[in-house]
Amino acid sequence: MSGVDMNDLLRGLPAVHELAETVSRRSPDSPPGAVREACRRAVEEARSRILEGDGLLPPEELQELAARRLDEMTSSSMTDVINATGVMLHTAIGRACLPDAAVRAVSRVARGYSVLQWNKETGKRGHRDIHTEGLLCRLAGSEAATVVNNNAGATLLILSTLAKGREVIVSRGQLVEIGGSFRIPEVMKQSGAIMREVGCTNRTHLRDYREAVNENTAVILRVHPSNYRIRGFSSEVPLEDLVALGKEFGIPVVDDLGAGSYIDLKHFGLPSEPTVMESIETGAAVVTSSGDKLIGGPQAGIITGSKEYVDRIRKHPLARALRVGKLTIAALEASLKLFLESREFLVENHPLYRMLSRDIEELRRDAEEFLGMLELPVACSARVIGTDSFVGSGSLPDHAIASIGIGLNTPDNEALALSLRKGDPAVASRIEDGLLKMDMRTLQPGEAEVLAGLVNRAAERLWA
Ligand SMILES: *Cc1c(COP(=O)(O)O)cnc(C)c1O
Repeated sequence: MSGVDMNDLLRGLPAVHELAETVSRRSPDSPPGAVREACRRAVEEARSRILEGDGLLPPEELQELAARRLDEMTSSSMTDVINATGVMLHTAIGRACLPDAAVRAVSRVARGYSVLQWNKETGKRGHRDIHTEGLLCRLAGSEAATVVNNNAGATLLILSTLAKGREVIVSRGQLVEIGGSFRIPEVMKQSGAIMREVGCTNRTHLRDYREAVNENTAVILRVHPSNYRIRGFSSEVPLEDLVALGKEFGIPVVDDLGAGSYIDLKHFGLPSEPTVMESIETGAAVVTSSGDKLIGGPQAGIITGSKEYVDRIRKHPLARALRVGKLTIAALEASLKLFLESREFLVENHPLYRMLSRDIEELRRDAEEFLGMLELPVACSARVIGTDSFVGSGSLPDHAIASIGIGLNTPDNEALALSLRKGDPAVASRIEDGLLKMDMRTLQPGEAEVLAGLVNRAAERLWA
């Protein structure tokens, strides 16, 4: 192409502000800055096409391109995900689906002002813990409670407050890594506490703790081995024995539960995970748990325990750095209130316990209905299969919960999974035994139809 022809084509490109006017007319609610930027990018891309010899984009296609760029710029980076993995609490996709009551509470306080830490009697500043402390004490049976950013923060804060420059006794079988970068030895180092490891990886005895106690011991720490299990020739010292030892020497026992809840999982036909009530009743001075694991609320670190210790923890300078905002407090308060209700009410109104309670026959009906919605190219097939659901986030890591799903057999399961991950909503699924598996248990109400549509379109694009 001659330089002159090329220049003619370039002159055919609209000015950015002209294109922006057209695009604005088509989507009048879009923010003008984003429209201008999207149009600038579209014109730039069209210019590159011309320079590469690909010719001038027709006006409609250029407008389409600008609309696509605008869509990318204005849609949230946090794309929705349909969770077909069967893992109910999945850290990568945000752990808990909040109960409706919590969602309403968040939306209400997000919009305006609220008495976050405003004492209505005096008109002065109070403490934001007032919204959750009474509730937490009632649920846990503790004297006091405070809430921070997450369980990792809670552990750091507690050790900094109670054990800086002093020793913390912990079993070698409990030096946990939770994923990401939460490792007990590192949190210990950050807090300024000195870690005093006792026992062996597989076995720790009460006498190991006893021999480690000295005048510089500040805390006996127990950590729930959330995401792994040590089997075979193994033993850990029960909490009550640690509490008795602590009493003897005046040393508080801190119990890091992680997934600690306010209802025993045995009510859902599962093995028990430790509850916060049990730890408090057994005599732990301070207990920590995550807001978004078995409590199924917002990300938070919940500290319950005796008034003496919780008050000291609350006053530590780090507590200010780790404090939670109004959205978290509102969501947590509403989520916790569900645990005061009957089990039936909890199951109906709390997504995690609803998922946990779904029986096989109900899931099978869902799977058959889902199968009926699939329209796949001939290269693909699908059938109802048995699957394994998991609680996730370090609860019952080796306990598979029998479930029902769909197994897709396609020419390239990885390609389909990739295409589904990149969609909006994105889909999280599992590839196993040569199948792309979609577990019905973790689909939220109304998602099955959307998911079937996404699968149909992705398969058609790949293989029709
Ligand atoms: C999950 C977990 C943590 C970390 O909790 P976050 O709320 O994710 O920070 C800490 N300790 C234990 C035992 C855990 O299971």
